[in-house]
Amino acid sequence: MLSNKNAVITGSTSGIGLGMAEALARNGANVMMNGLGSAKENADAIDRVKSHGTKVLFSSANMLKPAQITRMIESAEKKMGSVDILINNAGIQHVAPIEEFPQEKWDAILGIILTSSFHTIRAALPGMKKRKWGRVINTGSAHSLVASPFKSAYVAAKHGLVGLTRTVALEAAQFGVTVNCISPGYVWTPLVKNQVADTARARRMSKEDVKTKVLLEAQPTKEFVTVEQVAEAAIYLCSDNARQITGSNLSMDGGWTAQ
Ligand code: NAD
Repeated sequence: MLSNKNAVITGSTSGIGLGMAEALARNGANVMMNGLGSAKENADAIDRVKSHGTKVLFSSANMLKPAQITRMIESAEKKMGSVDILINNAGIQHVAPIEEFPQEKWDAILGIILTSSFHTIRAALPGMKKRKWGRVINTGSAHSLVASPFKSAYVAAKHGLVGLTRTVALEAAQFGVTVNCISPGYVWTPLVKNQVADTARARRMSKEDVKTKVLLEAQPTKEFVTVEQVAEAAIYLCSDNARQITGSNLSMDGGWTAQ
């Protein structure tokens, strides 16, 4: 479905970004991956995406460095011929009350989630508009719509990402380019899976209770979102049938933000 399309996915060496990279490659797209994982983590992730048979490139650009971000997009355009699909997915989290929130964490979270998306879009959009086809997908979060205490930077960055999404969607609307957010609730990633046993021991609860009463307290389905579900939503947004979906924020949060 996406053969002849070239994609750049930030933060694609693990978790959701890696799932999206695999899904895009499985659907025929060439992919430039990116992330700050260890050499082994990056190599394993690249191998997984390469196994689908399309061209796979890797950029170690740090999403806090505007010049590196611009070079990543330029290099993708040069080596693959175009950037047709851009997925802004890199992200980090820090949890602390606002009075104690370290300024460098605030800067890093806003920088990696929000400002890097400004830079990637700014660099990739001219080519998309010229070719009259493009898909920009920003990984939001339930926290793009609602807040939780102690996550000021993350909530501000994800809310800001929705504003950026809507603005660029309007600017690109008549050029065949759509710009959307996918906003997952709690996603079942290895990182989350690994926490369950420890938390169960610490709280003297069953693993099932940890999932439903601790991790999934806010999620009415009491089920995790899977990486595959998020990746398939991205594939749909890349399809021609999704041409009229732009400026939207697609919630995939088991009903969290319906409350
Ligand atoms: P993850 O930690 O598995 O992956 C994060 C990726 O970002 C990694 O590839 C990492 O190397 C990369 N990264 C971090 N800092 C970077 C930097 N400075 N420059 C370049 N790359 C950098 O996390 P994940 O759970 O897959 O999260 C991916 C996105 O999904 C994030 O934007 C996150 O906010 C969002 N999200 C996650 C969940 C969840 O429950 N896991 C829920 C909602 C939204």
